[in-house]
Amino acid sequence: MKKMTVSDIKFMQRQQLKEKPDETKLGFGQHFTDYMFVMEWTPESGWHNPMIKPYGPMNFDPAMSVLHYGQAIFEGMKAYYVNGQIRLFRPQLNFERLNQSAERMALPKIDEDFALEALYKLLEIEKTWVPHSEGTSLYIRPFMFAAEDTLGVHAATRVIYSVILSPSGSYFNGLTPTKIYVEDEYVRAVRGGVGFAKTAGNYAASLKGQQKANQLGYAQSLWLDGVEQKYVEEGGAMNIFFKVKDKFITPELNGSILPGITRRSVIELLRSQGQEVEERKIPIDEIYQYARSGELQEVFCTGTAAVVSPIGELGTKTDKYIINEGQTGSATKKLYNDLTNIQYGKVEDKNNWSIVVCEV
Ligand SMILES: *Cc1c(COP(=O)(O)O)cnc(C)c1O
Repeated sequence: MKKMTVSDIKFMQRQQLKEKPDETKLGFGQHFTDYMFVMEWTPESGWHNPMIKPYGPMNFDPAMSVLHYGQAIFEGMKAYYVNGQIRLFRPQLNFERLNQSAERMALPKIDEDFALEALYKLLEIEKTWVPHSEGTSLYIRPFMFAAEDTLGVHAATRVIYSVILSPSGSYFNGLTPTKIYVEDEYVRAVRGGVGFAKTAGNYAASLKGQQKANQLGYAQSLWLDGVEQKYVEEGGAMNIFFKVKDKFITPELNGSILPGITRRSVIELLRSQGQEVEERKIPIDEIYQYARSGELQEVFCTGTAAVVSPIGELGTKTDKYIINEGQTGSATKKLYNDLTNIQYGKVEDKNNWSIVVCEV
């Protein structure tokens, strides 16, 4: 099969461009740009027919396999506007992870370099859609799904990969602490399962717990491990960190935790600043003890959408643990600033994490 290059991407022009939404009322994932990227895969032809075409509904057959068996993966990243330039944050890592998810979900891998080039091309076309206001970005959603129209249970023999773009405001209201409920009934992932893959079903599995947390007055669920429900895994759809006795601890990547790019960046950033970061199994009881003894200094979650999100309260069926008097801690604030300053190109970026895609 021939290696695809960007010159193979067919461009289909829209008749009429959309009107851009009000930047002050974007919300998250509600508006979509003029164009999307699409390509298809079959075992015979590999990936083929790459296209940038008008954003719009896709036709599907009711038997399309993803609707029945959930063979679907995705990524989430952001493009930022800074001083006439469009920037991405460590985008190679997203395509690396997409392939790790694909591998686990028996979906075909993509050429990571081609996927990145195709994204650059789409962004070049859609660059005026990247909002300029503070805290806003163009959210990028690459996704891949089984598009075979049969009910047979097997890895799909027709797959679609697509990228859609959504101008978005900040996901949460900045650095306001939220409350998180320690979920002791449902789990989101199990040993040997698909927790580390960014796959649709993990989200489906988490919605019930999320609903329960919301009903109890919490913003998110804190997920415990799926075997003993004893060890901390994730906070909602984000990774979680604790600052205890002046060092940072976070659950180790054990196969059921999603390897967040923000998580990795936070660990690398903290270590480069001389801070101690431990990646290990964290019994939730240990966290409760630190909270009681006053040694639990800060708790925060990390993810592309919110970057760093402070947790002001941990709730259980019987107890409430208020963290740092419900206020955003100084380490959380510093990390948020350090990371967003790199993303927005405001500080020296020794590691080349912030990539300039094009000029506007
Ligand atoms: C995407 C995701 C994260 C965060 O990953 P980032 O690469 O930092 O955005 C964490 N947990 C889950 C379950 C996720 O799906």
